[in-house]
Amino acid sequence: MKASKMLISTLKEAPQEAKIASHVLLLRAGMIKNEVAGVYNYLPLGLRALKKVENIIREEMDKSGAIEISCSAIQPKELWVESGRWMKYGPELMRFKDRHEREFCLGPTHEEIFTSMARDLIKSSKQLPINMYQIQTKYRDELRPRFGLMRGREFIMKDAYSFDKDEEGLNKSYDVMYQTYSNIFSRLGLHYQAVLADTGNIGGNGSHQFMALSDVGESEIVYCDSCGYAADVEKASIKEIEEEKVEMLPLEEKETLNQRTIEEISSFLGIDPKKTAKTIIYHDFVNNKLIAAVVRGDREINEIKLCNESNSNENYLELAKDEEILSLGSVHGFCGPHGLKCDIYVDIEVARAKNLVIGANKLNYHLLNANYGRDFTGKVCDLKKAVAGDLCPICGKPMKQERGIEVGQIFKLQTKYSVPMKCTYVNEKGENVPMVMGCYGIGVTRTLQSIVEQYHDDFGIKWPLNTAPYHAVVVPVNAKDQDQMNLANDIYEQLLASGVEVILDDRDERPGFKFKDWELIGIPFMVVCGKKANEGIVEFKVRETLEKVELAKDEAISKITQAVKSI
Ligand code: ATP
Ligand code: MG
Repeated sequence: MKASKMLISTLKEAPQEAKIASHVLLLRAGMIKNEVAGVYNYLPLGLRALKKVENIIREEMDKSGAIEISCSAIQPKELWVESGRWMKYGPELMRFKDRHEREFCLGPTHEEIFTSMARDLIKSSKQLPINMYQIQTKYRDELRPRFGLMRGREFIMKDAYSFDKDEEGLNKSYDVMYQTYSNIFSRLGLHYQAVLADTGNIGGNGSHQFMALSDVGESEIVYCDSCGYAADVEKASIKEIEEEKVEMLPLEEKETLNQRTIEEISSFLGIDPKKTAKTIIYHDFVNNKLIAAVVRGDREINEIKLCNESNSNENYLELAKDEEILSLGSVHGFCGPHGLKCDIYVDIEVARAKNLVIGANKLNYHLLNANYGRDFTGKVCDLKKAVAGDLCPICGKPMKQERGIEVGQIFKLQTKYSVPMKCTYVNEKGENVPMVMGCYGIGVTRTLQSIVEQYHDDFGIKWPLNTAPYHAVVVPVNAKDQDQMNLANDIYEQLLASGVEVILDDRDERPGFKFKDWELIGIPFMVVCGKKANEGIVEFKVRETLEKVELAKDEAISKITQAVKSI
């Protein structure tokens, strides 16, 4: 490809809204273009890199035995009503009506469609197991689309759905996908970690997320170096404390004028925040009632765990308003579980601690020496967010914490969709039994950007060879110099002939300008034809290390062709 014929649209600076390096670089390198929040267009270079990522995913999925299909983004409401998700999915679901008032959504995921497909197309148990996948555009009306392709409202996902005869079959299909995902992310060169995950809106039980490790990741994970336990903090459990063996002191009401927050109350009383409990009241719109969650003062509530315990949904859970808190006989800033008139969920740590400070449900008052069982009750469960230093639930060693970008997630759905949607097969005994399902997603566009996040420097992107839009670029220093142009053309033709994806930068621009462009775009190899062109000597630059050496042209060609052959 000749650079003069390409749509190279590099920018000196990225638009204001780009906050993280990978987003800045994708925009500056002219890989993507934004029109509407969370919606991107892929420009030629970006599209090439995207196709590379897609193809690696496709090759590994094909190798695993999965079959590719392609579904529409348009999904009828009826299927979502059958699965029970039309209301439950919440405001993220992009819904619309056609001219006949029939309702649809733009698929955020395709469980309903694939389940309907299996129910209609699979006639005999001999066709099972089967795993079908697609690489297709998804729509989610995200509350906060941000970070470019990381959280879009339109994005590309690889989604796969397995159908098995039984649980044992599902476990096998799941393990194959776990291994396939490991192969995919390794081939893509990502530094990643597979972690135990919550099942969220998708449902079912048993799930792992694949996290590309990065400080800009929106997910937090905790992991144990000793035994290998690793989990998303939404899911992570910890080794809980033993019941404190100290005497319960008498409950005491204490005036705490204007001391509302845990920091204020603990410094006012001169105690460790660990000796307090905080009570947060929520409006659960799924069950339409107020509920209270109680965790230790130094902890954060994990709303996912709370929703799992209360059968609610995080999209339908909001902090209670002041009037609602008053209706429970409490007051904002002084809430506590003692005498509170609603369902109360109490973290295990709070239930096992003794003599805690809690809100008195009375303006400017707290209670000292509150104890679970004597002074308050509630459903005891794990409600807290795990943090670094918490003990591993498996081996008891302190855990570490890191941030990650969720690039993929796999789920054991079991019969969560096949039962309500009547996706059954006839077993050996002639009975109709539900298929046992798994589902497996990879955020293709998010993965593309995660590669940039892990492979860049101050000058631009450093594409790994197997996802780079082109492998090499040949740059004559002066496009008007005949020797340089002849040599550049010769190298270009030879590289093309050996199957290297190569660009000839024939633009009549200053050399510095051209070098900057290719460094920003991140082409792995650059061959510069300059002063020594008439001797057949070039400068060979490696983008990853910024190393440059003088080489005879054949050597440069052979280095590049060798590298490309080894992908
Ligand atoms: P998140 O927690 O980040 O919102 P999710 O758990 O809702 O993601 P899944 O339903 O598991 O997402 O979708 C499968 C994959 O699709 C995710 O692992 C992620 O890589 C990708 N993905 C999900 N939402 C988006 C989005 N808004 N933009 C880009 N990729 C996304
Ligand atoms: Mg997920």
